Amino acid sequence: MKIVCLVKQVPRADAIEFDPETKSLRREGVPLLLNPFDAAAVAQAAELKRQGLDGEVIAMTMGPPQAAAALRECLALGADRCIHLSDRVFAVADTLGTSRTLALAIVEEGDVDLVLCGRKSLDSETWQVPPETAAFLGWPHVTSVADVVVSAGHIRATRETEHGFDTYELNGPAVLSLAHARAADGARDGTIDVWTAADLVDDLRENDKRFGQTGSPTRVLAVRDVTPERAGDAFDSVDEASARIRELLAERATEPSSWDKPERLGETPGKAYDCWTLVEHREGRPARVSLELLGKGRELAGKLGGENVALVLGFRLDEVAREVARYGAERVVVADDASLSERHPEAWSGALRSIVGEAKPHVLLIPATTFGRDVGARVAGELELGMTGDCVGLGIDRGGRLIQTKPAYGGNIVSVIMGATTPQLATVRPRMFEPVERRDVVAPVDRLELRKQPERRTQLVEQRALPAWDLDEADVVVCIGSAVGELPELPEAIALGGTRDACEQGLLPRNRQLGLLGRAVAPRLLIAIDVPGDFEELTAFVKADVIAAINRDASAPMLHAADVGLVGDWRDLLPPLLELR
Ligand SMILES: Cc1cc2nc3c(=O)[nH]c(=O)nc-3n(C[C@H](O)[C@H](O)[C@H](O)COP(=O)(O)OP(=O)(O)OC[C@H]3O[C@@H](n4cnc5c(N)ncnc54)[C@H](O)[C@@H]3O)c2cc1C
Repeated sequence: MKIVCLVKQVPRADAIEFDPETKSLRREGVPLLLNPFDAAAVAQAAELKRQGLDGEVIAMTMGPPQAAAALRECLALGADRCIHLSDRVFAVADTLGTSRTLALAIVEEGDVDLVLCGRKSLDSETWQVPPETAAFLGWPHVTSVADVVVSAGHIRATRETEHGFDTYELNGPAVLSLAHARAADGARDGTIDVWTAADLVDDLRENDKRFGQTGSPTRVLAVRDVTPERAGDAFDSVDEASARIRELLAERATEPSSWDKPERLGETPGKAYDCWTLVEHREGRPARVSLELLGKGRELAGKLGGENVALVLGFRLDEVAREVARYGAERVVVADDASLSERHPEAWSGALRSIVGEAKPHVLLIPATTFGRDVGARVAGELELGMTGDCVGLGIDRGGRLIQTKPAYGGNIVSVIMGATTPQLATVRPRMFEPVERRDVVAPVDRLELRKQPERRTQLVEQRALPAWDLDEADVVVCIGSAVGELPELPEAIALGGTRDACEQGLLPRNRQLGLLGRAVAPRLLIAIDVPGDFEELTAFVKADVIAAINRDASAPMLHAADVGLVGDWRDLLPPLLELR
């Protein structure tokens, strides 16, 4: 069995600095490392080989000459040989350009049975390359895989999501992205073949639109430092701390999105464009993130002179379709089909591809959930559309283009991105916008007949519900460190997440892990208890309105990174803070 592991060299995110004078990132001297999710992919491939899968493990990267160091780390993790795609024409590729090049190289290598990737890189973290590469190859894929078993070309992959754990069975060749990370094991010398563009195509032309910047529809226009100012005020009394938290919550309160649509921007009368939102829903109601996007969608559609459209896929959707109108959708497009009854990424991306390909919405916003990042990127790859991943801000320029800001390098830096293709696709993080206030409004519903979809190549064989989506919905999130000893008892409306250590020690399931290697949250109030507060952990909280830290260790950096800090035992100090809602 031949396994190709796609790996990327990334800068150590905590060493990246923003230069306010040049308004760019200082990269000199920043240590580079093998993306930890990719280190896990190589270790997993080596483990599959050890388990008796005869064959070869090949690490492949597309990157500048110094990326060879990451490949040497792969050799130490068990790769048999490496391929380094290194050519000036590959430079400044976006995820589409990167994925196209990687797919060409996988085909050129030949007879590949399995491609293993990380689920995201730690620098630009779009999560898009694995589904887009699979789309270029025309192979099935499964993202965020927490466990994989392979025998005789048959793959059983368990995927970790906000809903729990779903197990899929499929036959190779296929692309899997891994949910968990690990550190590299040092470096080793071995075979590293360098391939250029001429090794991938016979007819290399100047300005070849398949590679690098010319083959990439998205552009990074600017980067900005958005490190939040937090006072790190220490309080001796929990009553005083509570009063300060109350004040901060009031100061930083966000108004609901407005029902009033703004005037159209620009001077080209007659051209009106709609803004669509793909609605994620569960148990017959739209997820909060979908309502947030519909709230923002009213503003964007106003500026585009068009309608705010909700796209609802699934089965038995009448109630969801009614509800999205009450939250600002002016038109609801529904594909109500039994084939979409399961939240099956392959079924949904097939349906979404035909709808987007035919309706060609000007803008399509997709929730940046495990599901949205998967189906959105697959569709972007299949239709060769630019896509911005994990946006935290959205605007419209006078030409009707979507201006997107997305976090990078752990979230204290944001980049401003624009895409050149239409439909313009973006995944958007939960809790970046407020929904509109619910009104009893009815919107017209267009019902679409789904084209017959090709037979599925990934079969959902088992589901273990372990919901963690409350982390995206709750106004208050408590994050525990491993030193808490026992789980706090919380009212139902408060969500509980944990640091990597807390989850690895089994205090919480892995889909509740917060941080650079887990997920970010953006509640109104984040209460960190016994969280040490290293860079990896702090990245999870960048967008929280207010942060309170309780720690027994008075020297914990978390106390300084919070707005309000309390030193002491959380069993005494937490209950009064839970009243602050
Ligand atoms: C600040 C910033 C923001 C950006 N935002 C966007 C954006 O929104 N949309 C966009 O299309 N492009 C964007 N890019 C470009 C993008 O970072 C590159 O195309 C990059 O090579 C792949 O994207 P990623 O790091 O997000 O990969 P992800 O999709 O997050 O990575 C997932 C996995 O794909 C594999 N992989 C990723 N890159 C490579 C590689 N070069 N070689 C081998 N395997 C790889 C690894 O297994 C990795 O774990 C951005 C770049 C910067 C600097």
